[in-house]
Amino acid sequence: MSNKYKYKEKDYIEDILENGFVTKYVGSELKLLAKWYKDKGMDSEKIKDELQDFCKVHIKNYNKAIHYKIINSAVNYAKNEKNKLIHIDSVPISKLELDTIESMDISHDYQRVVFTMMVMNKLGKEFIRIRDGVPGSNEYYFGGYKNFRELVSLANITFNKKKNSEVKNIHDLVHLLDEKGIVEIGTNGNIKLLFMYGIKSSGEFEFELSNFETIGFKYDHYHGENKIKECDECGILMKQNNNNHKKCNECAEKKWREYNAKKQRIYRDN
Ligand SMILES: [Zn+2]
Repeated sequence: MSNKYKYKEKDYIEDILENGFVTKYVGSELKLLAKWYKDKGMDSEKIKDELQDFCKVHIKNYNKAIHYKIINSAVNYAKNEKNKLIHIDSVPISKLELDTIESMDISHDYQRVVFTMMVMNKLGKEFIRIRDGVPGSNEYYFGGYKNFRELVSLANITFNKKKNSEVKNIHDLVHLLDEKGIVEIGTNGNIKLLFMYGIKSSGEFEFELSNFETIGFKYDHYHGENKIKECDECGILMKQNNNNHKKCNECAEKKWREYNAKKQRIYRDN
């Protein structure tokens, strides 16, 4: 599943309902739709009807005899109580958490990585709470190749790869954080987020973080660093390249298309 929708299945489903299948993974997307219809209180027969209707419209060469298999499999998937609709609107970030990170004896860029790690941990915990219906453990761990790769990308961190650089990659950084007592490297490659244990969860909330693709940008924006601005159309956080850069790529393109269409109309009318 696209990263964009990992914790935002409702947004994913809205996209599919509006535009048809978003990816080539028709089976997975039908499963999502099935969960959605189940969430709306439909029984299996009704869900099947809905999926068939959807496929008729959105699959070229739809054939009931061929496609019944993926439809049945989606219906059965949704029937399983374990397969919950995963949607997280936002995660709360407290003043205490922000203060704790800011007080760490590391650069702002590395603090941003720690912040991102914390948010990813919160998301993982919330995911488990929704999936299992009960809160997971009280421990704070982070690990896994995929998660580290995602961390580097979400935290917008670049490393100095030169020979004399002390931190050339995320693993060097983890070692630095371990030395500072911020995290603890475990024997299984997972790291324990030591700093989280000192933070009381009952602290005051500073903001709700709702866009999980721009976690690093949010940290910079909060601290007024690295020229991170809100797009003046849609509000998404973006890196401002120059003072005239006021819209995100998507909004800028949309404006450009509207402008061109208008020009074409005027040209035609004349
Ligand atoms: Zn925008």
